[in-house]
Amino acid sequence: MRTRCGLQPHCLGGKWAVGTWRCLDRLNSVISVNSLVPLLQTSGLTKEFQGFRAVNEVDLSINEGTIHALVGPNGAGKTTLFNLLTGFLAPTSGTIRYRGKDITGKAPEQIAHLGIARSFQITSLFDQLTGLEHLELALASPTGLGMRFWRSEGQMGQFRARSLELIDQVGLVHLADKPAGSLAYGQKRALELALALALEPSLLLLDEPTAGMGLEDVNRTIALVKQVAKGRTVVFVDHNMHVVGSLSDQVTVMQQGQILAEGSYEQVRLDENVITAYLGQAHA
Ligand code: ADP
Ligand code: MG
Repeated sequence: MRTRCGLQPHCLGGKWAVGTWRCLDRLNSVISVNSLVPLLQTSGLTKEFQGFRAVNEVDLSINEGTIHALVGPNGAGKTTLFNLLTGFLAPTSGTIRYRGKDITGKAPEQIAHLGIARSFQITSLFDQLTGLEHLELALASPTGLGMRFWRSEGQMGQFRARSLELIDQVGLVHLADKPAGSLAYGQKRALELALALALEPSLLLLDEPTAGMGLEDVNRTIALVKQVAKGRTVVFVDHNMHVVGSLSDQVTVMQQGQILAEGSYEQVRLDENVITAYLGQAHA
């Protein structure tokens, strides 16, 4: 049976005509492009601060559904790269594509709307607000309610059930009504993760999610990241090689603003350049 491919108006339903060949070509390219286009892709991405290149011609590809680690010594440009990807900084040059679409220069809110959320290297919570209030505000913000500070209980109440789900997801439901200032460090980081999840991101960027944590919290965070990575893509920065080895499908190593090596954890940890630049230093 001959069917129209539906891709092009000139399709002749399988008759051997010029149009058909074009259709088949188009079909093949759609199939192969869709399976090859990374979720996020940077090309020649560069950020200069007064002539100093913190991120230097970075070509990064993040595949959908993967957990991708970004590692490298302090000052390598990892946080700057996150700031570029999330619109907190505008690149000096280069492009960022998300689902194949150019998002270079978009504002942070626009990028968040597209489904890209991040957590920060340094905690950024309000000490007096409870975990639940943080989440209700985060959920209310896209509606505009969060900005008109403190609406009625009734208005904020509509976000309660989802807030409870989110705080439960990060293991803090028993502390939902405690002011954030009274939470332990690991719990604050978990609350921040819940805040990022409130945006229901397809792509989650985590900047040093285990920084400053003891082993118990580190292991809890590994389990948490694995859990929240289900059905989404995660890019994280971490110095802890146990975390990188436990979580990552793919590792990109940065040094002085550039990509030094890429591959699986097993591949990059044996790379001579990486050992010299980073692992050697980390274990020194
Ligand atoms: P990493 O997260 O890998 O430790 P950063 O991205 O924070 O590295 O920093 C990369 C380099 O860029 C560092 O040398 C840092 O001092 C510099 N840098 C970062 N942000 C700024 C800024 N706003 N102004 C000037 N220099 C900056
Ligand atoms: Mg950093």
